[in-house]
Amino acid sequence: MTILDRYAAAQSAIGRAAIDCGRDPAAVTLVCVTKTFPGEDVLPLLEAGHRVYGENRVQEAMSKWPALRERYPDIELHLIGPLQSNKTREAVETFDVIQSVDREKIAGALAEEIARSGKRPRLFVQVNTGAEPQKAGILPQDADAFLALCRDRYRLEIEGLMCVPPVDEQASPHFALLADIAARNDLRQLSMGMSSDYELAIQLGATFVRVGSAIMGARDYPVQG
Ligand SMILES: *Cc1c(COP(=O)(O)O)cnc(C)c1O
Repeated sequence: MTILDRYAAAQSAIGRAAIDCGRDPAAVTLVCVTKTFPGEDVLPLLEAGHRVYGENRVQEAMSKWPALRERYPDIELHLIGPLQSNKTREAVETFDVIQSVDREKIAGALAEEIARSGKRPRLFVQVNTGAEPQKAGILPQDADAFLALCRDRYRLEIEGLMCVPPVDEQASPHFALLADIAARNDLRQLSMGMSSDYELAIQLGATFVRVGSAIMGARDYPVQG
């Protein structure tokens, strides 16, 4: 199987999962996660017309994507990994969507950088649905207050929520919890589901699924939140 075979298989699995639960396949966007893979590995997907990609490190994205963007200006790049406040400028420069807003310091730094640069990345709040100490994300019980803070104090328009469930647990309660928090805060976008569980995530309302290894192949380091 080539990358393109696996990409086609993932796209059709996404379409089937959506149709099976009565959703429009067009309402689910595949974010192809290319972390650790060099730009040349992404070229077949770009040539096939795929435009939405995810990276988890600002530095790696900065060294990989500007050259690809010159050839494919309509790329949509998502930051799906933790953001440090001293990397906010680079993140706003490099990414179209930042999925990992998770604390006041980052909200403040983003608000400042958006005002300074005039660039407005789309923003998601990451929720640590499993309350794992090592993992990024706002705690579920703090999510409503944090969303209000983003909106009222920092004037940030948050579109949706993102989560990475604990690896050793059933994902569905985590997806359901994320969908609940989104619904009660009037947020439309849900970024949830990875290679092993994106079909389940679609059943529970995902509008963005983040699929890496099922398309790109195995990475040589373990997944981190
Ligand atoms: C690496 C990563 C993914 C993709 O993981 P796969 O299991 O390879 O599909 C999705 N989301 C986040 C936040 C990641 O860091």
